[in-house]
Amino acid sequence: MRDFVLERPRSISEVLDTLQRHGNKAMVKSGGTDVIVWLHKSIKEPDYIVDLTAVEQLKGIVVNEDNVEVKALVTLNEVIGDDSLNRYFPALVQACKAHSDPLIRNRATVVGNVCAAVPSGDMIAPLVCYDAKVEITGPNGSRKVPVSEFITGPKRTSLGTDEIVTGIRIALPVVETSGCYLKAIRREALDIAQAAVCCTLFKGDNREFRIAFCAVSARPLRATEAEKLLNSCSNIDDEVIDQAAELAADAVDPITDVRASREYRVEMIAELTRRAISRCLERPAGEGVHK
Ligand SMILES: Cc1cc2nc3c(=O)[nH]c(=O)nc-3n(C[C@H](O)[C@H](O)[C@H](O)COP(=O)(O)OP(=O)(O)OC[C@H]3O[C@@H](n4cnc5c(N)ncnc54)[C@H](O)[C@@H]3O)c2cc1C
Repeated sequence: MRDFVLERPRSISEVLDTLQRHGNKAMVKSGGTDVIVWLHKSIKEPDYIVDLTAVEQLKGIVVNEDNVEVKALVTLNEVIGDDSLNRYFPALVQACKAHSDPLIRNRATVVGNVCAAVPSGDMIAPLVCYDAKVEITGPNGSRKVPVSEFITGPKRTSLGTDEIVTGIRIALPVVETSGCYLKAIRREALDIAQAAVCCTLFKGDNREFRIAFCAVSARPLRATEAEKLLNSCSNIDDEVIDQAAELAADAVDPITDVRASREYRVEMIAELTRRAISRCLERPAGEGVHK
């Protein structure tokens, strides 16, 4: 591992000053569960690590009148333990529980998972289903970008080298909702997804299913054809669920790698989609509604 200088700014403005000074020689670190691995393996060799963990402004889950802000240093275990997030965004909580193990979850952040932009990142599909916005701050001010646009490719985002993500904001649901995140892994222990599916259901008058995937596309992807079918059917029986699952499998374009073949991933997407839709329909009414 190459030597680097550790910077520990204490405010967002100090972070931005530090990034301005070091340009593309710097790398931001939150929980470090990706960054430290990359440094050890010399996958990344920055001259400066800008550690955000001393910045109080980046800590906490804030429930506002019509949205929730998950700030940049919020760990997966904090999400799992938060009553509001359990109530309103169950699929996000399930994705956090499906991630790694309790020790890693104590360090790993939701925002770090999104910024790493790895196709197998567990946070991405639920955040896409909940239409979450990434909040970015840089020398020219702040901007908000949907997660689906923030990630521009494998390990690529629209973040500038002089910007950081300060948090993720999700609108509170105004109708009853249910959600389900299902992940296929090689063994019943710590592992990255072979494939995963997130399904959310917003009940109300205009019932809406949203389905997104993990580990089967280069960028965040929704199963738009499957969603259209489900959203247009008044009676969703097993036949409709099977059709939606096949449409979901048609939508993905996975690769073959050490974790699974392309063919296996496609089959798993169909099966996980089938189960996720069924579970959303089984969930009791009243779950997730804010107003
Ligand atoms: C043993 C092990 C098991 C794992 N299992 C899983 C798993 O099951 N599922 C999964 O999805 N991932 C897994 N991971 C990967 C990793 O834990 C996650 O991606 C994690 O959520 C990253 O969060 P972090 O806070 O540790 O990010 P960091 O390592 O601190 O940073 C990750 C990336 O995001 C950038 N970044 C972080 N915060 C910000 C910010 N606020 N603004 C701008 N850029 C930022 C960093 O520069 C870096 O590029 C695993 C890792 C390990 C070591």
